[in-house]
Amino acid sequence: MAGDTPAPRRDPRVAIVGAGMSGLLAGIELRRAGVESFTIFEKERDVGGTWRDNRYPGLTCDVPSLLYTYSFELSPEWSRRYPSGAEIHAYFRRVATKYELARNVRLGAEVTSVSWDGARWRVATASGEVATFDFVIAACGALHRPRLPEIEGLASFGGEAFHTARWPDGLDLAGRRVGIVGTGSTAAQVVPEVAKVATRLTVFQRTAQWMFPMANPPASARGRALLTRHPRLLRLRHELWRVGFELGAHAQLGNRPLLAWIDWRCRRNLAQVRDPELRRELTPTYRAGCKRLVISEGFYPAIQRDNVLLVTEPIRRVVAAGVETGAGELHPLDALILATGFDAHAYVRPTRVTGAGGATLDELWRDGVFAYRTVAMPGFPNFFFLIGPHSPIGNYSVISVAEVQMRYVMEWIERWRRGTFASTSPTADATRRFNERLRAAFRGTIWVSGCKSWYLDRHGNPVLWPWPLAELRRQLRHPVLDDFELTPVTEARP
Ligand code: NAP
Repeated sequence: MAGDTPAPRRDPRVAIVGAGMSGLLAGIELRRAGVESFTIFEKERDVGGTWRDNRYPGLTCDVPSLLYTYSFELSPEWSRRYPSGAEIHAYFRRVATKYELARNVRLGAEVTSVSWDGARWRVATASGEVATFDFVIAACGALHRPRLPEIEGLASFGGEAFHTARWPDGLDLAGRRVGIVGTGSTAAQVVPEVAKVATRLTVFQRTAQWMFPMANPPASARGRALLTRHPRLLRLRHELWRVGFELGAHAQLGNRPLLAWIDWRCRRNLAQVRDPELRRELTPTYRAGCKRLVISEGFYPAIQRDNVLLVTEPIRRVVAAGVETGAGELHPLDALILATGFDAHAYVRPTRVTGAGGATLDELWRDGVFAYRTVAMPGFPNFFFLIGPHSPIGNYSVISVAEVQMRYVMEWIERWRRGTFASTSPTADATRRFNERLRAAFRGTIWVSGCKSWYLDRHGNPVLWPWPLAELRRQLRHPVLDDFELTPVTEARP
């Protein structure tokens, strides 16, 4: 394709949707490659994605801080092994400043539609602005759209009711009667904190969760100074955590001794619950690892406090005074926290994305989300996902995943700059073959061993990655050109 004399480098216009971890990464990689015509559209007033949205008390990350960083921006300064949400948000803001992303980020600019006009993408925002781009990178993450429970009467509640990702600024729960719906990873972090201040905390549990204990020691000043002085040691620790996490996260899928050990740790953790009836109510009926493992040291001590009540009767409805369960018992409340999770299969939606044939992502995904190797869609030229469908999420570090995907996207963009194609998208056949392999690989995994979780679509198929992360690296090492349709460059761009 390339001639004898190298073609002048073309300058692509790139739209990035979302200024969270992966959107900022996309901007950084473009800047490092000398691409300056990119815009990061962000619907909120700050960067940071999930770490900006989630500000509930107790928020921490259950991936170690030395690993939960960009591989090119390691930090020796973390205060604990598992960092707080505020500390992570500050990290992303610091990195965005270092790479001077402010001039490319459009805050308060919600992308409402993205449509292919035959040659480029037209990107429209809620304010009515329209601009054209050669590439679109959807970097919205998997957990950005809060899922509110469909509970009768929720709107009639007389106190404050809110989702954990919409925690009201300055909220003081001291001396109040508080209810929390849900016992997932988020609730497990919120409960110990709210239990410390509320007069009474009522925890509404629909399904018991396995809780894996993990201590969160502070980083010593000496240790931090050592890592600051010896960047190689910092790199080595990052790599050790990375390899350990990748092996551990993958082995959870099928390694019997590891699964048995996780089960044992969870059961031992649960054994600290002294009251046999409470312990029975907190004991899940499915295998540890089927739902995303909840990592918590604080939940069981908190649930045994005198001011905390676990309610396992199903919620019947919400009334002005509180929550009614079972046969109509009223639990009077001043505030109701909805720790009910996210629409984990939304990805770039609700943005309307219309491909080359006129079909929207929403229409194509009606029966379940899919993509080509997590990053692209047939019929959507020059359109890429970071943390798209079937990305390795769950108990991995999503930063490592996004870096692998962005390197792949950059390879396409570099080919475009050299003028080797005008637009590209994977073939329907290659996408089908990839998804067939995925479905076959899910058989026998722990995720389909008999529980309901956000990992599964409505047909019970996991929207996860069933192989080691090394396999994602292998599949995204370089584009497989046979899997793609390419249109040639035919005219000079305006
Ligand atoms: P989640 O795991 O989806 O849990 C939602 C909880 O709400 C579940 O207990 C669910 O019960 C309950 N629920 C939902 N609708 C309900 C209804 N109508 N009535 C009663 N109960 C209802 O959500 P999450 O806890 O926000 O966690 C989501 C994900 O965010 C995690 O899996 C994790 O990937 C990520 N996260 C990570 C961290 C971290 O430290 N890295 C912290 C927080 C969150 P059922 O189980 O019966 O559905």
